[in-house]
Amino acid sequence: MTWRATVLTLFPEMFPGPLGVSLAGRALASGLWGLEARDIRDSATDRHRSVDDTPAGGGPGMVLRADVLAAAIDAVDAAADRPRLVMSPRGRPLTQSRVAELAAGPGPLIVCGRFEGIDQRVIDARGLEEVSIGDYVLSGGEIAAMALIDACVRLLPGVMGKLESSTDESFSAGLLEYPQYTRPQTFEGRPIPEVLLSGDHGKVAAWRLGEAEALTEARRPDLWAARPAQTIRAKGESQKTPKNKTDG
Ligand code: SAM
Repeated sequence: MTWRATVLTLFPEMFPGPLGVSLAGRALASGLWGLEARDIRDSATDRHRSVDDTPAGGGPGMVLRADVLAAAIDAVDAAADRPRLVMSPRGRPLTQSRVAELAAGPGPLIVCGRFEGIDQRVIDARGLEEVSIGDYVLSGGEIAAMALIDACVRLLPGVMGKLESSTDESFSAGLLEYPQYTRPQTFEGRPIPEVLLSGDHGKVAAWRLGEAEALTEARRPDLWAARPAQTIRAKGESQKTPKNKTDG
């Protein structure tokens, strides 16, 4: 069965948006994955098609109604058999391993919040998994959903060719990726590191691993502390972090 994402949103016209171009867009056009953006408003029952109301207990803004959203979820075929996510700054931060799990499944149903958020009762009643894409607040869940879908789609079989491989990428072995270089051989007086031009694959691999480790240790102590055992350097072996690796 083809992997597909079903997005529940107040702004279905935002899709496919950036998912319709480049790698994801080509794969979408050739049927390697599917995308369905559904308007939550279609599940409203009153003549004003209202989807939100004022927060119980007072306060600013509006909250998406549980009954309308539940009806929108229930109208999706086989919704119960798919991961049901809601994009939320309160959610568990999205990781590459969760992305890989989602890419390996049938494809998620994703609820996009707006306004102040969503009535808690629909999150509980429909078992929605809250997913965050970072510690900042967007105005709606659509861009967050696109980020999640894009990360999944590139892992689907047949989407990435030989030219784009995910094996060495950041997070694939619990490390950030090593620095990349291409022509020209010297740019504004900065040469490509000599080892990369040596043709010695063993040396290149060792250099890349060392760089990946140094970068991860300098920039992401959380990843460094949690790295898988096989990537832990032999005791006493030191790697120098190039100065410009810690400033970004
Ligand atoms: N009042 C909410 C709070 O403080 O947690 C923020 C609501 S935000 C303005 C509206 C919607 O944007 C959220 O319901 C969610 O769907 C989405 N959103 C905002 N930031 C997000 C993030 N970092 N990750 C995932 N979704 C996010």
